[in-house]
Amino acid sequence: MDEPQKVAIIMHKSPDGDAIGSSLGMAHFLKKLGHKVSVLSPNGFPDFLAWMPGAKNILTYDTKPKEAVKAIRGADFIICLDFNGLKRIDELGVEVAKADAIIMMIDHHPQPENFADLVFHSVKASSTGELVFDFIEMLDRKDKINKDIANCLYVGIMTDTGSFRFSSTTTHTHYVVAELMEKGAEISKVYKLVNDNNREQRMKLTGFALLEKMKILPELSTGFIALSHNDLKRFDYRDGDTEGLVNMPLSVQGVAFSALFTEKSEDGDIRISFRSKDKFDVNKFARAHFNGGGHLNAAGGSSDLSMDETIMKFLGLLSSYKKELAGK
Ligand code: 5GP
Ligand code: MN
Repeated sequence: MDEPQKVAIIMHKSPDGDAIGSSLGMAHFLKKLGHKVSVLSPNGFPDFLAWMPGAKNILTYDTKPKEAVKAIRGADFIICLDFNGLKRIDELGVEVAKADAIIMMIDHHPQPENFADLVFHSVKASSTGELVFDFIEMLDRKDKINKDIANCLYVGIMTDTGSFRFSSTTTHTHYVVAELMEKGAEISKVYKLVNDNNREQRMKLTGFALLEKMKILPELSTGFIALSHNDLKRFDYRDGDTEGLVNMPLSVQGVAFSALFTEKSEDGDIRISFRSKDKFDVNKFARAHFNGGGHLNAAGGSSDLSMDETIMKFLGLLSSYKKELAGK
């Protein structure tokens, strides 16, 4: 990559802090090396990530499909960050599959699909942000990391580790963060921009979900929350408002498996987030039953049944997992 290249960086649908942080961090780095870079997302991203340097220039396929497709078709290099299956980028996946460009994947989810020419992948990495740092270090170009790159990668690491509390956090994660701090990462400022940046209605939706909607099934070590389209509308739902909510039932005593069901549009799919403690494998559960995937303790999926039917299906499945759930 010594000659200037046209690079398209793609993050997964409904991008989270790691998808956006690793993508923007990589974009700033490649621009500093002289490359021409576009950053693409299948759709929009939450308010609390909109402050990130470069976020305003992200091309979203749902609002600018022609420009997004043009960026992919014109690219010499395509870098897929924080996902490992083309299904995760919807229609953009079709473009990537037929692109002539060299495709690189940088990711930390299990079971990567075989669509990339170059793969930088480790399930041991806390986050894709951490892997982008490792990639830069491997190239021996840490000298190029400035404050913007450091802050972007830090957002990825901080959000995917739940602020360094998940077991995916390693000594290497802390080494990377130390290096990013040396390069100017503003850890307190970034934390506040991501976490203490809520609209009043979002806080009220959280309160409502916990008070009225959280169900705890002690005999199955399970908790779940289901929010209908009307519930979300009542609190003026915006992208990202339910981020983190799925962790809350998991902090109830005895709960080892948690699910959040959201009906984002009137007649659309039900989005599901799964979280677990210890050994219960939500990646396997989401793949087997809800057309999804993710990690051992954090996964997602969807359902095209109604909300009631989806919950019935979920409850029916739980009884067949009784043993695994009791094993925690
Ligand atoms: P979340 O519940 O925060 O949306 O996602 C949790 C984890 O599962 C993330 O690592 C995310 O990338 C992954 N994930 C979420 N939804 C899907 C999906 O539909 N398919 C796959 N393969 N992974 C998903
Ligand atoms: Mn990630």
